[in-house]
Amino acid sequence: MSHVLAAVAWPYANGPRHIGHVSGFGVPSDVFSRYMRMAGHDVLMVSGTDEHGTPIQVQADAEGVTARELADRYNRVIVEDLHGLGLSYDLFTRTTTRNHYAVVQELFTALERNGYIVARTTLGARSPSTGRTLPDRYIEGTCPICGYDSARGDQCDNCGNQLDPEQLINPRSKINGETPEFVETEHFFLDLPAFAEAIGNWLDQRENWRPNVLKFSRNLLDDLQPRAITRDLEWGVPIPLDGWRDRTDKRIYVWFDAVIGYLSASIEWARRSGDPEAWRKWWSADAEGKDALGYYFMGKDNIVFHSVIWPALLLGYSGEGDKGGEPGELGRLNLPTEVVSSEFLTMEGKKFSSSRRVVIYVRDFLERYDADALRYFIAVAGPESTDTDFTWAEFVRRNNDELVAGWGNLVNRSISMAAKNFGAIPAVTELTADDEALLAYAKSGFATVGELIAKHRQKAAIGEAMKVVAEANKYLSDQAPWKLKSEDEKPRQATVLAVALQVVSDANTLLTPFLPHSAQKVFELLGGEGVHAPMPSIEQVDDLDGGPSYPVLTGDYTVGARWESVPLVAGTPLATPKPVFRKLEPSVIEEELARLAG
Ligand SMILES: [Zn+2]
Repeated sequence: MSHVLAAVAWPYANGPRHIGHVSGFGVPSDVFSRYMRMAGHDVLMVSGTDEHGTPIQVQADAEGVTARELADRYNRVIVEDLHGLGLSYDLFTRTTTRNHYAVVQELFTALERNGYIVARTTLGARSPSTGRTLPDRYIEGTCPICGYDSARGDQCDNCGNQLDPEQLINPRSKINGETPEFVETEHFFLDLPAFAEAIGNWLDQRENWRPNVLKFSRNLLDDLQPRAITRDLEWGVPIPLDGWRDRTDKRIYVWFDAVIGYLSASIEWARRSGDPEAWRKWWSADAEGKDALGYYFMGKDNIVFHSVIWPALLLGYSGEGDKGGEPGELGRLNLPTEVVSSEFLTMEGKKFSSSRRVVIYVRDFLERYDADALRYFIAVAGPESTDTDFTWAEFVRRNNDELVAGWGNLVNRSISMAAKNFGAIPAVTELTADDEALLAYAKSGFATVGELIAKHRQKAAIGEAMKVVAEANKYLSDQAPWKLKSEDEKPRQATVLAVALQVVSDANTLLTPFLPHSAQKVFELLGGEGVHAPMPSIEQVDDLDGGPSYPVLTGDYTVGARWESVPLVAGTPLATPKPVFRKLEPSVIEEELARLAG
């Protein structure tokens, strides 16, 4: 058993989540965490809203509110979105807590002390018409590396390389189209080349990573450049150095602060748990974290931050880059075990776009459909290892043909028949070879499905779980217990239904990481009491260090089912079940497509 960190990419707090946002890594990280907990690991699943940076400042300016007010609004919206999906965060927090500021500044200070942060005079973009600093993301131009003509001032979305605005060919302001002027300004840079060798050695030892992620990460090492970690901006974490601390026009760059959130959120969780040092069991590279594993979940556009930049910060903080140094006061820290990157989801063949209305927001989705219907679609058809397309036709088909007609039907007919004929879980008299074979097949699912989830092959994993469902449906059709009506046949009918219900119970456990809401219901239909699949809750908490209060997503996940077959107890009362899943009318497809068309 290990201490497993599930570090989930931080959503940017500039709007509600759409289903593309949660398909790649939001739901998959929850499936992974739920499985690992059920398998007996001590999981710490953390994330939060990423709230600094120029886009939030610009959007707040446009709406006439403060950046903090805008961040407050979308932090709450996003917390509610993720809660609606049942994502089991131990702590989902935010980057505007005082705890986060302190941890970011501690990392900055130690990196600077170890010589990995250097000051440089650089060129900053300025708007000639207003004289104001132009935020990086609002400068667009041609990528000097791949030639993509809509690269941003901080990153090229086509080739994934980080950029500085002055590197762009034909730079222009996205706000008013004018050509920015570049003026000298002083900034701090992270000396990334000083980590190339250490990161290369670390990548050489990685096992089981998705090959494209490993290859992409190795390629990034060929041309590492010092990377700016401060910006001309008022909204962000202050620079913790003498002469800089009180300046209001310079802040730590948002990517530097956000990536540290995994660590600060873990520390916040520990401080709230009553054992402020507990985070070390997931993070310490020394004895306290000896069995720690760290899995990072993100979309493919964020690989560089997790496979190169975050490891560089951790190495530098621990005094393990080319320049050596001493670990900071948090001690030596663990690098990721695995960087789990997903591909992109499109919608009806188009890129998700809020501005072009190619979008469905999580909260709108959940108003009309069940969370598990979306979770099922993501598991069987999400962008796990290739870009995939969400279509309403496919969503309705998967829901009706697989979830309702496959799993829902098995649950409904086996429990109904047992309730009607016996009023309880029936007793087994004698098992035939067919009975034994089905029971053994369902039990073998725990090893098969579990191993696949642990290796981030969730599509294959839910496929195996649904095979157990298909086998059980076939078994019921073959055995036809509804025909076994005479007194002589009653014991055989009882046995068949007892076998079917045991397999329903096992399949339900196998599906619990994917479909936690319905798994709880099925568990209760089988006479189970208490918590089978624990759920997160939203709690309003005080900032630990005197800042404003805020909502967090948290929960007690020590309760609930284990990853094992639990024998049903004959005689447990059963009632006629209500359907667990809802069949969708085909008209849903037209309605949703009409909504998309506006
Ligand atoms: Zn490019």
